[in-house]
Amino acid sequence: MRYISTRGEAPVLSFSDVLLTGLAEDGGLYLPQTWPSLSPEEWHALRGLPYPELAARILSLFTGDDIDEATLRQLCAKAYAGFDHPAVVPVVQLENGLFVQELFHGPTLAFKDMAMQILGHLFEHVLSERDSHVTIVGATSGDTGSAAIEACRGRKRLSVIILHPKGRTSEVQRRQMTTVHEANVTNLAVEGTFDDCQDLVKACFADLTFRKDMHLSAVNSINWARIAAQIPYYVYAALNFGAPGQDVSFAVPTGNFGNILAAWAARKMGLPVSRLCVGSNRNDILTRFLNKNDMTMKDVVPSLSPSMDIQVSSNFERLLFELLDRDAAACARIMTSFRSSGHMDVPEQTWEKARTLFSGLALDDAQTEAEIRHLHQNSHYMADPHSAIGIAAGRKFRDKNSPMIAVATAHPAKFPDAMVAATGIHPALPEHLADLFSRKEYYETIPATADAVKNAVRTAVANTH
Ligand SMILES: *Cc1c(COP(=O)(O)O)cnc(C)c1O
Repeated sequence: MRYISTRGEAPVLSFSDVLLTGLAEDGGLYLPQTWPSLSPEEWHALRGLPYPELAARILSLFTGDDIDEATLRQLCAKAYAGFDHPAVVPVVQLENGLFVQELFHGPTLAFKDMAMQILGHLFEHVLSERDSHVTIVGATSGDTGSAAIEACRGRKRLSVIILHPKGRTSEVQRRQMTTVHEANVTNLAVEGTFDDCQDLVKACFADLTFRKDMHLSAVNSINWARIAAQIPYYVYAALNFGAPGQDVSFAVPTGNFGNILAAWAARKMGLPVSRLCVGSNRNDILTRFLNKNDMTMKDVVPSLSPSMDIQVSSNFERLLFELLDRDAAACARIMTSFRSSGHMDVPEQTWEKARTLFSGLALDDAQTEAEIRHLHQNSHYMADPHSAIGIAAGRKFRDKNSPMIAVATAHPAKFPDAMVAATGIHPALPEHLADLFSRKEYYETIPATADAVKNAVRTAVANTH
């Protein structure tokens, strides 16, 4: 299996190289050169497998010769052993024809664990084969940082340095990062905003000597391996509802478009998916696109669902490339002008193609709170603000021919204030995090300068090895 860039000007790479590289050299995103495709008999044969086994089978279609299936089976078994539900990704019924699949039973209580946990193992495996190491530097406003730290903690070939804006993340989210005490984990509290943190990370990557010396790498959602690792739970849900003999639909609370792109990929591989619903908050660029072909950047407004507070959805580029029938030159042209003008010019027929499969619904904070209350009162279900938006989108677009499965992306205990406001109930943290507020925190406060970050990264790397 080989991977090509959506902008057509980067080297063709294998799975392991794509894993370590992340973003393509030409600024594009990597996609499989050809999509694996399963026959109805092959889908049928996957029914009933435990989640880690299924994940290994699906991932093996993407790793090609780089990692064999037996190794993948071991890595997936380890990756999902720490989840606190025996089904790993259980499905619950909410209403007639409307279901929720919970993706938040991992160590940090958000769906990012689904991919990050296996990515940690994949990195370790590939790096030990190459006898190499990498330094992961990332900025976080919440979920990504803790998922990356949990996935990499204690791994000798990985140093992980996460920048967060001091005093500007929720206390649960900060403590999930800062209470991890490992030689290879460094938390930097930056005296600045999330945007400052992102700029500082970019500055580290832009210094090519530093980048090379430190073996910098990224684990953000443009990494293809993260998308690949998100395909299995869509397959798992669909098979449980009777696929390949039964169609299903999915509704996904969406930010960077990585999660829902994995559902699209499952369909591309032959899984019978009839509709994909995007849920947005007031940062509704995708919903505006789907409803009116209006993909225009706006300033980010903070919301009850912070992990969906985005200006652009980076993974949309992968869908665009496919909708353009893989015309890399056209994709590069559209993306470059989008970056400079803030408006994406999507040809009318390409937009129509997107609409045959995707629908979008945006909820503001008041509607999100009302949806959380409604779910609690009517279905006795506690959905966090992100998940509630996905469920609302699923309800709007369900039809009687295919079960609608909304994915729940965070545990309600991650957003206690919103849950109390909507339901009066303060959801308890799961047992493994019950003492989170009494654990000691480890972090370093630094000014928002590139020199301070680079010094901290050098020290962190020296401490790991
Ligand atoms: C990251 C995240 C999302 C958005 O997922 P994308 O793949 O970026 O679309 C939604 N909900 C939660 C809780 C998240 O952490």
